Amino acid sequence: MVVSSVPGFDAIIALGSNIGDKACHIADAVQAFTADGWVRLVKRSANYRTAPWGHTDQDWFVNACMSVKTELAPHELLARCQAVERQLGRERTIKWGPRVIDLDILVYRDLALNDPDLVLPHPHITARAFVLVPLADVAPDLVIKGRSVRAWLTELPHDDVVALTPGP
Ligand code: ADP
Ligand code: MG
Repeated sequence: MVVSSVPGFDAIIALGSNIGDKACHIADAVQAFTADGWVRLVKRSANYRTAPWGHTDQDWFVNACMSVKTELAPHELLARCQAVERQLGRERTIKWGPRVIDLDILVYRDLALNDPDLVLPHPHITARAFVLVPLADVAPDLVIKGRSVRAWLTELPHDDVVALTPGP
């Protein structure tokens, strides 16, 4: 399969944490994910404080995202997401429950994929302010389902997504 390249980055990874020192887990995950030459950090969003999603009776989250350059294939990148989750001590309990760290691939070049274990672009990008707001820091002009990230954001309330650190 030939997957064409998007200028500037190959993939964008979303990060989230709502247990312990959340910002520290995000920083450690960025470091671990980009620690070798196979994945290079291009741009990282600010950290955002966001309300829990799914099970709303859990602690607030820190969310962020990063764009990367990589020659890894999509499933290799997913394996790296899961390896870093394990490395930071994530235990899989309930769906959308509390987690030390979550790494999701939002986009991989302009690939559309619907595998049982990997859906690209990530199916929930445009409905979730905690994904869209950090994404707008790194790729505001990226087109998802026919509209730019910036355009999607104008329609989605996002007052409860609050920057904790300065943007890029
Ligand atoms: P969630 O991220 O929805 O809170 P998990 O992190 O537990 O839940 O992931 C559940 C499954 O989602 C993983 O086993 C993975 O195979 C699958 N998945 C499908 N598409 C993606 C994607 N784009 N990025 C990361 N995981 C994905
Ligand atoms: Mg995940």
